[in-house]
Amino acid sequence: MKYLSTRGDQPKLSFTQILLAGLAGDGGLYLPESYPQVTKETLDIWRTLSYHELAYEILKLYCDDIPYADLKSITKKTYTEQTYCHGRLGDVATDITPIHWLGSENNSQIGLLSLSNGPTLAFKDMAMQLLGNLFEYTLAREKQSLNILGATSGDTGSAAEYAMRNKNGIKVFMLSPKGKMSRFQCAQMYSLQDDNIFNLAVDGVFDDAQDIVKAVSNDAAFKEKYHIGTVNSINWARVVAQVVYYFAGYLRATHNSTEKISYCVPSGNFGNVCAGHIARMMGLPIDQLIVATNENDVLDEFFRTGMYRTRSSKETYHTTSPSMDISKASNFERFIYDLVGTDGSKVKDLFKQVQTKGEFGLSQDQAQDFVKQSKEKYGFVSGRSTHENRLETILDIYRKYQVVIDPHTADGVKVARDHLVPNQKMLVLETALPIKFGETIEQALGQPADRPDAFIGIEDLPQRVISVPTSAEAIKQFIIDHV
Ligand SMILES: *Cc1c(COP(=O)(O)O)cnc(C)c1O
Repeated sequence: MKYLSTRGDQPKLSFTQILLAGLAGDGGLYLPESYPQVTKETLDIWRTLSYHELAYEILKLYCDDIPYADLKSITKKTYTEQTYCHGRLGDVATDITPIHWLGSENNSQIGLLSLSNGPTLAFKDMAMQLLGNLFEYTLAREKQSLNILGATSGDTGSAAEYAMRNKNGIKVFMLSPKGKMSRFQCAQMYSLQDDNIFNLAVDGVFDDAQDIVKAVSNDAAFKEKYHIGTVNSINWARVVAQVVYYFAGYLRATHNSTEKISYCVPSGNFGNVCAGHIARMMGLPIDQLIVATNENDVLDEFFRTGMYRTRSSKETYHTTSPSMDISKASNFERFIYDLVGTDGSKVKDLFKQVQTKGEFGLSQDQAQDFVKQSKEKYGFVSGRSTHENRLETILDIYRKYQVVIDPHTADGVKVARDHLVPNQKMLVLETALPIKFGETIEQALGQPADRPDAFIGIEDLPQRVISVPTSAEAIKQFIIDHV
């Protein structure tokens, strides 16, 4: 399997060649040159597999330059009950991504696909844990080391740290805005005592931290000399790891491999639902892929109007589903590549316009055609949810089903309910557990969210965080002193 850039101007590379890379050299994103096809017969065979066995079967279609025996042990080591036992929902304790059926509404069964049982209680653990093991494996094979530099407003940073802790050859330098994360999030990140993890707190907001990361990464000589890398959501291995749970969800939700189901995905950077699109392209019988946004509705606007109009950071709202507060969906280009008929020059033209004008320049007819094709050919529809919708949905789901959902999952449930098809199952991806967003849960229910046992008292653990000046030079010096 070879990988190409969505903008078409790059030599084809293998999986391990793009594993540690960010953007392609022409500014595009990497995609496989074709999507392997999975037949109904294969799906039937996969029904009896455990999660890690299924992950192996799917990943081996994409990572064929890792010896199969090694890939098998990496997936087995990644998807264990010990790593994915931290949550609370779930009918079957031994399943990595159990489905929690809520009930029947308008003749459609609604279920939550539980993806938040990993160490940081958000779905990002599903892919990030695999990435940690793949990085460690390939670095050892190539006798290299990697220094991951990142900025976080909460979820991504902790998922990365829990995935990279104690990994040979890897150090993590994670910038966070001082005093801007919840107590729970701070406790999760800062209580890690591993020598290879550096929590660096800067004065300022998330964007200031992000700017420093960009400035350091733009210094090509520094980046090369100190082996600086990232783990952001455009990483192909993260996307492909997420494809697995769309298959797992389907196989658990159905009894035969012709039945169609729909998925609703709380979305921000389009990484999660992009994996759903890939699963569908591989032949998984998915009817609708429903993109749920919050008030930051760039993606909803696209699927309604065909216009992709990014927002400035001033026009980006801080909402109570903060992990979806994005103004520009970094994985979206992967879908557009398919939508324009895998024509790299068209993608290049569209995203050049995004770069200069902040939006696609399309005629009314072209925009309408995008909407129509997205829906008819690729199953995409969308909807948007607000703070009021979240609170109502959290309360309603609790009253009806005695289940507490987090605000991001609530956005998903709200939008899913607007797209139910009679006699068809609907899986909403549960992207985080409520305890991570306790304040909003209290506002919705008048009572605190349940706390899984593993997290009792984490705010009282000793914390390890270093205050650093808000400057790229200071961060570079810190890295030089600690690699
Ligand atoms: C990251 C995140 C999302 C958004 O996922 P994308 O892949 O960026 O679309 C939604 N919910 C939660 C809880 C997240 O952490």
